[in-house]
Amino acid sequence: MPCALFAENTRVYPRAHFQDQTAESKLRPTHLLLGNVVFSERASKPDMTSTPGSLDSTAIQLDRVSRHYTLGASSIRAVDDVSLSIRSREFVALLGSSGSGKSTLLNLMAGLDRPTSGAIRADGRNLAELSSLELARYRRNTVGMVFQSFNLLPRMTLQENVELPLRLAEIDRAERATRVAEALQRVRLDKRTAHRPSELSGGEQQRTAIARALVNRPKILFADEPTGNLDSATGESILNLLAEIQSSLGMTIIMVTHERPLAEKFASRLAIMGDGKLLSDGMNNGAKQ
Ligand code: ADP
Ligand code: MG
Repeated sequence: MPCALFAENTRVYPRAHFQDQTAESKLRPTHLLLGNVVFSERASKPDMTSTPGSLDSTAIQLDRVSRHYTLGASSIRAVDDVSLSIRSREFVALLGSSGSGKSTLLNLMAGLDRPTSGAIRADGRNLAELSSLELARYRRNTVGMVFQSFNLLPRMTLQENVELPLRLAEIDRAERATRVAEALQRVRLDKRTAHRPSELSGGEQQRTAIARALVNRPKILFADEPTGNLDSATGESILNLLAEIQSSLGMTIIMVTHERPLAEKFASRLAIMGDGKLLSDGMNNGAKQ
């Protein structure tokens, strides 16, 4: 299946593609990375000075977004008429019980899936109206994504794993080296560049995945249960790192979690889903920052 995705590199909607699989943990790294390849097109020159957005600008806006799945005669309203506006530099936690539509909503915002109806405005465009190629560009240039299961390529070193999105985006070799070093330093793994993922702890693997998500300098970082495979102390250190990245880079972070105490400690805003709907949404004044 990953090979088929390679051939059809601009049409990667993993969850739609794998109708029989419901968990995002089934996504392979190749889906995520190859989905961002736009062949025969050099990435736009990196803007070394860019900051992800001013305080008041809107990072992403959802207007009556729905995503329904049809299975035989029944229709599942995974996301049901959700409207939400997220400002630049917010750290939003999406909470809710299992099956409430959190991952589906995150994947829609990340351009990994398309809504059945509604508009998703990000980077000045409506994602629902983008061509497959434009959506691949959005995934490559505007967003970074981190998953519960890390999704690192086991045969590659840390350096190679983090470098991969840059190679796929055809960034020059010298620029790649600088950016990989910068990303690995940000997650404090610059001394481990030659190691393979199996030689690292779970927390270190997730930090590598965060470095890989940051290496293209995205405006929005999406994380789906980033602490789900980690013990609570390691999970907290990952959230500390995300909060640090949020404030030092001015990044917008949108994170799915079911660990409410962690969300309350770190996120600036809590949005709670139930049955595909947004049940509540509000600022979290108790957050650390
Ligand atoms: P959460 O992340 O909150 O656990 P999901 O977004 O994964 O929830 O799923 C929401 C609902 O949509 C669930 O009922 C799930 O079974 C269903 N669903 C998710 N993906 C698919 C799919 N590809 N095909 C059919 N149903 C799906
Ligand atoms: Mg989920």
